[in-house]
Amino acid sequence: MLVNLKEILSEAEKGGYAIGCINTPNMETLRAVVDAAEDVNVPIIIDHAQVHDSLIPIEYIGPKMVEYAKQAKVPVCVHLDHGSDYTFVLRAIRAGFTSIMYDLSALPFEENAAQLKTFVEYAHKMNITVEAELGIMTSTADDSHGGAAGWTHETIKKTFTDPAQAAEFANITNVDALAVCFGTAHGIYAEPPILDIDRVKAIRAAMPSSTRVVMHGGSGVDADQVRAAISAGVSKVNYYSYMAKACSAHMAEYFAENKGDVFYHEAQEEAYRFMRGYAADVMRVFKNGK
Ligand SMILES: [Zn+2]
Repeated sequence: MLVNLKEILSEAEKGGYAIGCINTPNMETLRAVVDAAEDVNVPIIIDHAQVHDSLIPIEYIGPKMVEYAKQAKVPVCVHLDHGSDYTFVLRAIRAGFTSIMYDLSALPFEENAAQLKTFVEYAHKMNITVEAELGIMTSTADDSHGGAAGWTHETIKKTFTDPAQAAEFANITNVDALAVCFGTAHGIYAEPPILDIDRVKAIRAAMPSSTRVVMHGGSGVDADQVRAAISAGVSKVNYYSYMAKACSAHMAEYFAENKGDVFYHEAQEEAYRFMRGYAADVMRVFKNGK
């Protein structure tokens, strides 16, 4: 069933678990993620990233995502990931998305807050939930967000979200969810990430109870740190890059074993089966033992 972000995330926070938010830029991934959520019997957020619109426009994949969400036996939220321009955000709403990440984190604090405040007022009238980002999350060189090489644990600390600022931002804007920085990055990690769990606790404690804490760059973080972040107050975990890379590695083996002698649709099905299992394992971690 199609749901909005607020319902499933407030349940998650109360229950001490998190909900995965996984990019679904093609039909194999979309089917795999929704079916995995049914396998594990958990709510899921499927999202289309603005940077993936070159792979398939939101007008084509969006209605498919909405349809899969409606047919699913578990609650599914259809969310825009890192919408960074207003036209694109409107395209997502027109495509039927129930939740929007309007990412103006590149702007100064005041401007980011002022624009989000106005947007949240409109969005809530349409029963659409809104996620924002505070502090620019590092993107690695190996990432579709187009990041820079050479980040270290020291440089990543400069992007960490200040708990008092997060609280101020949430109070001004009334956003439903806020992506914050405490040691994760987008894409494939150059060195193993180290999360600042105390910062997550401080952010959760400072922010209004109506705003959920979101972790981006969840793939590539070891399961113990993911669980610690969830216990500290994260209720939405964005996850994609490592699943996509693992699927490619699996498909390389599959093609080698079959000496390339397969129909393409058989390869698509193999990718679907692999990602369904992979996504289910990830969702079990997000359950945080619940
Ligand atoms: Zn992100």
